[in-house]
Amino acid sequence: MSGDDKRVLISGGGPVGLLCAWLLGRRGVPVRLFDLNDAPQADPRAATTHPATLDLLSEDGLDQDMARVGLVAPIFQFWDRPSGELIAEFDHTVLKNDTRHPFVVQCEQFKTANLLLERLRKVPNVEVLYGHEVVGVTQGAGSVSVEVRGPQRVTSHSGAYVIGADGGRSTVRKQADIKFDGFTWPERFIVLSTPFDFQAHYGYAFRSYFADPGEWCNCFKVSADGPPGLWRTVYPANPSLTEDDILSDNGVQARIQSFFPSDRAYEIVHRNLYLTHQRVAETFRKGRVLLAGDSAHVNNPIGGMGLNGGIQDGVNLADKLARVLTGGEPDTLLDLYDLQRRTVAVEFVQEQSIANKNRLEASDPETRKKNLDELRAMAADPERARQFLLRTAMIASQRRADSLELAAAK
Ligand SMILES: Cc1cc2nc3c(=O)[nH]c(=O)nc-3n(C[C@H](O)[C@H](O)[C@H](O)COP(=O)(O)OP(=O)(O)OC[C@H]3O[C@@H](n4cnc5c(N)ncnc54)[C@H](O)[C@@H]3O)c2cc1C
Repeated sequence: MSGDDKRVLISGGGPVGLLCAWLLGRRGVPVRLFDLNDAPQADPRAATTHPATLDLLSEDGLDQDMARVGLVAPIFQFWDRPSGELIAEFDHTVLKNDTRHPFVVQCEQFKTANLLLERLRKVPNVEVLYGHEVVGVTQGAGSVSVEVRGPQRVTSHSGAYVIGADGGRSTVRKQADIKFDGFTWPERFIVLSTPFDFQAHYGYAFRSYFADPGEWCNCFKVSADGPPGLWRTVYPANPSLTEDDILSDNGVQARIQSFFPSDRAYEIVHRNLYLTHQRVAETFRKGRVLLAGDSAHVNNPIGGMGLNGGIQDGVNLADKLARVLTGGEPDTLLDLYDLQRRTVAVEFVQEQSIANKNRLEASDPETRKKNLDELRAMAADPERARQFLLRTAMIASQRRADSLELAAAK
């Protein structure tokens, strides 16, 4: 094969597309990546990076750089909002024999993207074209081509495979006619960032979850531009309010004050509203089209699993594509990618993220009591806490994916 025949085209330069480009480039595969924006997006989305994901990112010290520019958070807490009681505290240290990273790293996704971009500049066979939107995908027998709208004109590019890493509204997925079944939550999720120090004032850990009948809140710290950092609070928005009302000064103060009453107005650094879905693509591979990250699966952010799943897709896919393109292995290996990653998206990420939301917002008194008692009991028993954390830290899902590869090798 010539260089062009082996090229991988990537639509989307979010963290997942950049990771795929970097890992493929390092393994000698030529890559051309397109992103419609001019740079990685800086809105306040993912930060929580779980142990299983960090274990996959040690190449070239990426995990250490993420910890350096982010925050190390070994502990997370569940609070009951009506009583103000700390229900349970989980310490990832119980996973010390299960992972090289018995902690979470809170690293904002634009920082992860920038760390990847820095590394990509050192890989000569990778081209990154910002300001370029993929608008069409056509598959042939031995190649795939994409139409790309650039600053001047539309151009055509061909390669061996295309990776759709272009987010939840993926053009690649739509062009390949791959269904994206699931549902959309009726309430949007509002993210408010503030420099108010919730640890100093209330003793909240860097990741704290609040249960409340019909409502919930995630409160977590990010390092932002350096000390003292920012706290992000995430809540359901009232579906009957307009976007303008929700994001108005009065609206955001009412939202944050309802959970954390104060006689002073909060300084709000970011205010963002997100429509949130639970969807999984019907396949992550259709011929020469491969999906990874949000283009393949989306879920609510409670528990911080979306980008983690996307990074795990990216590592798995880059490894298999490199083995096919430079190692001469059969391309049925890519079906295994679909099997492994789609299975864990459905069995673990969808199930866990929906359960996380249900647990926090349960309103039936008996169900609430059962949920909170269960959290207390798990936190009090080191082996039950470990089993719980294996799932939340996404180690159980990685093990499930590994077991599918082992079974396929037999
Ligand atoms: C409030 C909130 C909090 C979250 N917190 C967490 C968390 O703590 N942990 C976690 O794991 N996940 C979290 N997530 C989920 C996480 O943000 C996403 O899973 C993540 O952004 C997916 O990365 P991606 O690279 O697949 O897609 P994206 O980040 O969406 O990137 C897609 C890229 O594709 C580009 N693009 C789109 N269309 C085209 C096109 N046609 N041509 C070229 N380029 C295109 C876009 O410009 C963009 O750069 C959170 C989400 C939200 C909303």
